Amino acid sequence: MEDLARDIRSCRLCADRFAATATAHAPRPVLWARPGARILIAGQAPGVRVHESGRPFTDASGDRLRDWMGIDEETFYDRDRIAILPMAFCFPGYDAKGSDLPPPRICAATWRDRLMDNLGPFALTLLVGAYSMAWHLGGRASVRDRVAGWRDHAPTVFPLPHPSWRNTGWLKRNPWFAAELLPALRARVAEVL
Ligand code: SF4
Repeated sequence: MEDLARDIRSCRLCADRFAATATAHAPRPVLWARPGARILIAGQAPGVRVHESGRPFTDASGDRLRDWMGIDEETFYDRDRIAILPMAFCFPGYDAKGSDLPPPRICAATWRDRLMDNLGPFALTLLVGAYSMAWHLGGRASVRDRVAGWRDHAPTVFPLPHPSWRNTGWLKRNPWFAAELLPALRARVAEVL
């Protein structure tokens, strides 16, 4: 795992791709994992704030995700208990509308199988957003359908929408998420921790 983590942190496979974006940034892989962790947060890709901080979920999305899980920052960032592995380890840049670009596919294709072989087994996996759902569950179902079908996977896997402010409207339109899914998620997090 140490060799693999060192290889990922020095990865520059997307250097040309990132240099061509508006931010023209260099790769900065943000990897947060140690063997033995029992919870996996499978996210999307770092945003610009995480690109700058070098720590995953150091933003409003992280605050919302910690609230969903019912844990504080100290617990969230305990690598012996929680691994945080997005589908791409670097900030992908912005599209023409100012939204984050999708995680480059080459990242998961290059690193994810090897990482999963070196980590886990996980007692709880949080699939945050469409890209991690597609990789871990397969198929082409929508995020809404996957999250609505959370009982098919609980208590070991919970499909979740991205905790971004962009999904605040979705959360309001789907009150069952807070009323039914979140209590089950918090109970499972507490049980595994
Ligand atoms: S996103 Fe992944 S594949 Fe691309 S440079 Fe970063 S670590 Fe390498």
